[in-house]
Amino acid sequence: MPLFLLEADERAGPGIERLAARLQLDAALDDDHVCVLVHLVIAELLAGSHPDQDGTSFAGRVEDDRASGAAGSLEPEEVPTLHGRDPIPLGCVVRLAARMAPVVDAYALGPTQTNCYVVRVDAGAQEAVVVDPGYEGIRPGFAVVAILVTHCHWDHLGGIASLAEATGAPVYMPEREAAVLENPQAFFPDQQIRPYKPDVRLEDGDTFDAAGLSFETLSVPGHSPGHVAFATDGALFSGDVLFAGSVGRTDLPFGDWHALLESIRTLVDRFPPETIVYPGHGPPTTLGAEVAANPFLAELRAAT
Ligand SMILES: [Zn+2]
Repeated sequence: MPLFLLEADERAGPGIERLAARLQLDAALDDDHVCVLVHLVIAELLAGSHPDQDGTSFAGRVEDDRASGAAGSLEPEEVPTLHGRDPIPLGCVVRLAARMAPVVDAYALGPTQTNCYVVRVDAGAQEAVVVDPGYEGIRPGFAVVAILVTHCHWDHLGGIASLAEATGAPVYMPEREAAVLENPQAFFPDQQIRPYKPDVRLEDGDTFDAAGLSFETLSVPGHSPGHVAFATDGALFSGDVLFAGSVGRTDLPFGDWHALLESIRTLVDRFPPETIVYPGHGPPTTLGAEVAANPFLAELRAAT
């Protein structure tokens, strides 16, 4: 997660230059412009950030050391107010810990409302990665350069073959579950799923770049034995492992509750609480929100 430091004291120069380089701003860089730069950064982050579930705030935060490190979500309406405030006093430290989160469009498809995500590096990007095209019909309107599959259950597989053929995008699939996509009729005879041979077979820890984003593959078994999650820039595509207020079923064939809990523990240990979780079903959430209140994670809470 990029962390920008604006230091309005003698360290101001390097901090602001780092920030400006990240944002490709062409601005006069001196202490008098700190407040303007903060505004510009926030405006930039707002444009590229995912709103939270009620759509009133964004997934970034501004910390001010004068307030003992207190941090909170910044309401978009506050931006003009912030800009209108007196310039940030010299000597204070402003930390912009907000990430440059990808832009994620969600489509709930099919009888089980399986989430299909279209992921881009920012709002102006024309290339996209599609996560779990579970049903026919997704034509994102962008150049699809990769199709990622979290696991092999039928409601996540249905749209893969047609999307891959229409776009030419390679399909990334966990190695351990690739056989299901290659022969879905053997596993789900009641479903009309076209077989497809995955182009890239993933193991735990595999990384790859697509559409300007870097992805890491994380093995998260429990809901299914080869299930993976995909992490990129403050976002986690969790498939059917973790939902807002719930977790994936483990009563299906090869489900394993203890493995599922350990998988979620791994994610919680690995990523910061503000990480946005995009689940296979239902609305997005954050790791922190689920650790705090998900009724299925009491055992995990008790251990921390
Ligand atoms: Zn599933």
